[in-house]
Amino acid sequence: MSFESKNQYFLLLIFIYKVSIVYLSMIIWNNIADLYLDGGCLCFDFINTRGSWKELDSKEFLEDYFSILEFFSKQDIVPESYLEKLKGLANSDYFQSIEALNEFKTLRENLYIIFSSIASNANPPKKAINQFNLYLAKYYQRKKLLFTESNSYLINPILDAESIMEPMSFILESAVEILTNVDSKKIKECGECGWVFLDKTKNNRQKWCNPKICGARVKMRNYYQRQKQKQS
Ligand SMILES: [Zn+2]
Repeated sequence: MSFESKNQYFLLLIFIYKVSIVYLSMIIWNNIADLYLDGGCLCFDFINTRGSWKELDSKEFLEDYFSILEFFSKQDIVPESYLEKLKGLANSDYFQSIEALNEFKTLRENLYIIFSSIASNANPPKKAINQFNLYLAKYYQRKKLLFTESNSYLINPILDAESIMEPMSFILESAVEILTNVDSKKIKECGECGWVFLDKTKNNRQKWCNPKICGARVKMRNYYQRQKQKQS
C-alpha cells in the first residue's frame, strides 16, 4: 500500500471509529424509558441509572422523582395504579419530592460502593455498611400477612401509597436477596462503564454489562489502537 493510500485508510479508520463511538453512545444516552436493564436484578438495574460510574459528569437518568416511578414502571413489579398514587403525592409536595430524589440517589451511591467492592473481592467500607443499615432500619420490608380463600397464607408488600419513599423497600429487598443468596463471584462490575451486573454465565466470564455496547466499544478501541501503532 502506498503512503498516500495508507494515510487515506487511516483517516477512514478514524472516521469509522468516531462515528461508531457516537452511535454506541446514542444507544445509551436516552431517557430512563429507553434505558437498558442489563443488571440482572432490581437493585443492580437501580445502581445503573446513571450513564457511567467511571465518569464524574455522566448522564443522570434519575432527573426527578418521576423518573424513579418510571423506573419501577419498567420493572413491572407493582401495579400502575400504585405508581399513579405516588405520582399524585409527589405532585402535591414538590420539595418533598426533591428530598426523596436525593435520598434515592444517596442509596444508589451507597449500593454502588458496596457491590463495586464485592465485585473486586474487597470488603465494603464500614461507612457504607453503616449507611446501608440505616436504610434497612428505615425503609426495609413493608409487608402484611394475607389469608386467601384457598386457605393459604401470603406475605405481600404493603402498597398503600402513604409515602413517596415506599418504593425504596423493593430496592433494599433486592439488595438483601443478592447479599445473602447469591455467590459473590456472580457479582461483577463492567470495566468500561462501572455498571454492576449479575453474571449469569456458567463459567463466570462475563466482562461487560452488555457485550454489544461496552464490549463492542472496547473491542473497537483496541482495534483502533493496534492500527494506530502499526501506522506509527
Ligand atoms: Zn458497561
